[in-house]
Amino acid sequence: MSEGRVALITGASRGIGRAIAVELGSKGCRVAINYQNSEAAAEETRRAIQASGGEAIVVRADVSDSGEVKKLFETVNKELGPVEILVNNAGITRDNILMRMTDEEWDVVLRTNLNSVYYCARAAIRSMLKARFGRIVAVSSVSGLVGNAGQVNYAAAKAGILGIVKSIAREAGSRGVTANVIAPGYVETDMTAALAEAAKTAILARIPAGRYGAPEDIAKAAVFLVSDDASYINGQVLAVDGGMTM
Ligand code: NAP
Repeated sequence: MSEGRVALITGASRGIGRAIAVELGSKGCRVAINYQNSEAAAEETRRAIQASGGEAIVVRADVSDSGEVKKLFETVNKELGPVEILVNNAGITRDNILMRMTDEEWDVVLRTNLNSVYYCARAAIRSMLKARFGRIVAVSSVSGLVGNAGQVNYAAAKAGILGIVKSIAREAGSRGVTANVIAPGYVETDMTAALAEAAKTAILARIPAGRYGAPEDIAKAAVFLVSDDASYINGQVLAVDGGMTM
């Protein structure tokens, strides 16, 4: 399947990114774990991969910064080889209603959640085209598909990801490269932990599966999309949301 492939997962210190990294490690990928601030948590991700016999390195980089992304890829290239599987997962929220949203809240969310996908995909694509193999998966959100009150910035970034990914799918599809989007629904991580109980209950009522998502639900979809079995799936948006947005 993905045995021996070099996989870079951005924002893999915690939450969904960690689950994807661990799952890919268990499938035999050689994993680069990117993080920004949570070094100890990133090391924990590495230990989890090594415990199951996998290989992993940890690389700090702020993926909202073009220069840091360049260095991130140089490091991964040197230590593991060219990135064959790229999972753009790093993301943040700075929620606010539109009339109170600040330019800073807009900018940091667009830079972290959208520019990062562009920087990382651009850094990865050359070697993928050369190798005639590549897998790019970007983690969007149901907010990017249907919008969400209080998330004008986040929804814009997450919708923008679809445009990047579909364009890459068209540009690189004939050379063994696929690019797809996963749009998670509500997943229990640090990101959603801060939500008020009433808001969580209201969300749960809209999920046909009758439960919140777990990071592993997203990881299993990512593992499939980057596998050889998914070579004919390109430019797609897969909502992994328990049926919330169908
Ligand atoms: P999380 O638990 O808050 O983890 C976020 C991860 O992103 C952390 O590893 C963090 O690194 C990393 N990160 C943030 N900014 C970064 C930057 N500038 N450079 C590098 N890494 C950065 O979030 P999550 O819930 O797992 O979310 C993961 C992705 O899924 C995000 O794109 C999010 O938008 C998306 N998503 C989540 C949900 C949900 O319900 N949880 C739903 C839909 C979509 P540090 O630990 O070093 O800060």
